[in-house]
Amino acid sequence: MVVSFKKCTKCNKVKPMEEFRLDKSKPDGHYPRCRSCLKEDRYENKERTHTYYIKHKERIISKIRERQRTYPMSSTSYERQLKNGKRWRADNQERVKELAQQAVMELKDFYVAAILRQGGTEVTPETIILKRQQVLMKRTLKQFKKWREENESDSADVQTEQYENEENYGRDIQAG
Ligand SMILES: [Zn+2]
Repeated sequence: MVVSFKKCTKCNKVKPMEEFRLDKSKPDGHYPRCRSCLKEDRYENKERTHTYYIKHKERIISKIRERQRTYPMSSTSYERQLKNGKRWRADNQERVKELAQQAVMELKDFYVAAILRQGGTEVTPETIILKRQQVLMKRTLKQFKKWREENESDSADVQTEQYENEENYGRDIQAG
């Protein structure tokens, strides 16, 4: 096996090719900087961005707010997002089904909100909590009914047995 080497443009160290991330756009197919330098870059970048943000926080926030006021999401970008969502759902039908089932099982906020809207109730954090409790209670009751139906013969036995025991108990009192 031939091991090729390459010199990093940042730390100037000669390292084996595998120490350089793949980049098809480069002539030799690898990044000019080695992996550890890239890691350092990412860290420094993050630090720089954070420091800049802390220093100019108020200005940055007011600029974002201003832009949101001046350019509320344009209908075209909204339509594009909608279209992308539709395409994704069409391409991932199985996953969509899975996510929907999960939302129903876990009573996710948006699912509970949909129930509320369907019933004409205003959607607020409070009504979501209340509705979730209600649905959970209904589900538990339904499960209990199902369980009872499945075990009806058993429960009938238990009832008879219990009745007999209580009858005997009564007799004991009369006797005593
Ligand atoms: Zn390097």
